[in-house]
Amino acid sequence: MWERWNDYTRYLINRYGRKVYRIGLDGGFSCPHRINKYSGGCIYCDSQGASSVYQRVKESGYTRQSHFEKNIDESLPAEDETDFEQRLVEIDEGVKRGKAYLDRRFPDTGRSIYFQSYTNTYDSVEHLRLLYDRALATGDYTELIISTRPDCLSDPVIELLSSYREKVSSVWVELGLQSGNEDSLKFLNRGHTVASYVDAVHRLRDKDIEVSTHMILGIPGEGDREILNSADLIREVHPEAVKIHNLNVVASTKLYEMYKKGEVDVPNMGEHIYNTILFLRHIPEDIVIQRLMSETPRHRLAAPRDFPDKGYFLTSLDRVMKTQNAMQGDRV
Ligand code: SF4
Repeated sequence: MWERWNDYTRYLINRYGRKVYRIGLDGGFSCPHRINKYSGGCIYCDSQGASSVYQRVKESGYTRQSHFEKNIDESLPAEDETDFEQRLVEIDEGVKRGKAYLDRRFPDTGRSIYFQSYTNTYDSVEHLRLLYDRALATGDYTELIISTRPDCLSDPVIELLSSYREKVSSVWVELGLQSGNEDSLKFLNRGHTVASYVDAVHRLRDKDIEVSTHMILGIPGEGDREILNSADLIREVHPEAVKIHNLNVVASTKLYEMYKKGEVDVPNMGEHIYNTILFLRHIPEDIVIQRLMSETPRHRLAAPRDFPDKGYFLTSLDRVMKTQNAMQGDRV
């Protein structure tokens, strides 16, 4: 376990008495920002969304069309009960695959349910309840974790999420923010403001829901000053956790088109280590670090192609931090 930052594994063991692994699920959601023809989606977002390795069963030639999109795109037949029942069945299958994978690799550890792909609050409250209930009915889980956008969290949805605190030890929402700088949010075409992130965190906190914030380091146009601005925002808002990503260019995205034209560059390992240390030193030491680099599958990753694997990166980061006598939070 790592000592220079607030390591996620250590945090889970301290809190729950054992390691806990997530079963990452695809609930058949889409994203309001992707399917709205006027907003167009984030420039780095590809058509397959994030998913765990054991859920990548449809990637070959797979163009995603969520069941819920049928409710929004008038050219498609509306989602009916059969479609929705199929989503519930896919939850069962996803849990089964996740359990089989994790039980083989990490026996005798805890499990959490993680709705991971796309915007997992983008549906009616009743559908959300049925989908979350279905996943939680498959076993005993430590946490319920829902990944979403800051502007897709109505009060009734937050109420619903809060109600699961009776069923699991804690409920988390993972919010994509990526940067604390409005110009960067515009560049990434996030389609929301810093203020909407701050508002979402406050409303979640009012209902005792814990928050993890996704950040990208190495956004074109961002230097030390912008990274420190982002760290300042994280210090002020103080989510319980952050996930740090190095900018990745994924084939078939708008960012990829820009990359091919030479309009943008991405940080290499040395640059990401520099950015990460700068950010870590300026955020509070009690914020849990759930992730320190992106892990896009190699066959979809256009750049950086020479970025090392996670083990090598973390060892290198730790070594540089030792050399600099740097610790998370030592410059707050
Ligand atoms: S919010 Fe997430 S799913 Fe939606 S367009 Fe952006 S990256 Fe893609």
